Amino acid sequence: MATHPEDPGELLNATAELTIAGRKIRLEMPVPAGPTQLSRLLPFLRYLTDRFVDFSVENARTEGLAVSCKKGCGACCRQLVPISAIEARRLGEVVNQMPEPRKSTILARFEEARRRLQAAGLLEQLREPNRIGDDEVDPIGLAYFQQAIACPFLEDESCSIYEERPLTCREYLVVSPAENCVRPTVDSIKPVHLVVRVAKTIRALNVEQTPSTPRWVALILALEQAAKACLDEAPPQPGPELVREIFSRLTGLNSGCG
Ligand code: SF4
Repeated sequence: MATHPEDPGELLNATAELTIAGRKIRLEMPVPAGPTQLSRLLPFLRYLTDRFVDFSVENARTEGLAVSCKKGCGACCRQLVPISAIEARRLGEVVNQMPEPRKSTILARFEEARRRLQAAGLLEQLREPNRIGDDEVDPIGLAYFQQAIACPFLEDESCSIYEERPLTCREYLVVSPAENCVRPTVDSIKPVHLVVRVAKTIRALNVEQTPSTPRWVALILALEQAAKACLDEAPPQPGPELVREIFSRLTGLNSGCG
């Protein structure tokens, strides 16, 4: 599990046991005991996402469905990837901390992507996700995919920031044939059914905590968006309180984790 660069201070061991679709899942992870923010919980959120994804994959297996995603297949990394504002900021930090010449290479890829989006007439729309209606998301996603813009972090068809990849990337797995991902349609792609959707929940919580935050940020614009003041975070709150809040949103129940 990757760690946040800032010292998290004293840690508590949070545990939770859930029963989903008749199967138990036990979660155990360190969380900050003192005041913290959503961004500092990213290692915890990645852990949660990975556990719920593993659980969902196991569920699919019991239904006779196998995940077709494998290392070296980066077709989905040309899709429009919505991420939370806190993850956009984190990606900004990750790139800033890269040594040269890697940093310049990645920055140049982001700039080239920006140029291509502008030429395709998509840039301004993606800069204002709050103005994109729910019925516009699919057409814009399709127009984006048709540009075949690879994620700047995609190298040799693999994610070069695997430990730091956003929650949405972690949750995206398919059980439809891998070749369908090259020309995806609503009918030809069958994603793994997620028992719990962490990425979407965290995006919603992020906006609720900080209403100036866009409801999602296109990964491809993460660096320019990360520099904006509107992505500033809500003040810190006690770690255990924030974790309970996350659990109750994920499960729809008052959390008994402690
Ligand atoms: S961050 Fe990694 S997994 Fe996500 S779209 Fe980019 S290359 Fe793919």
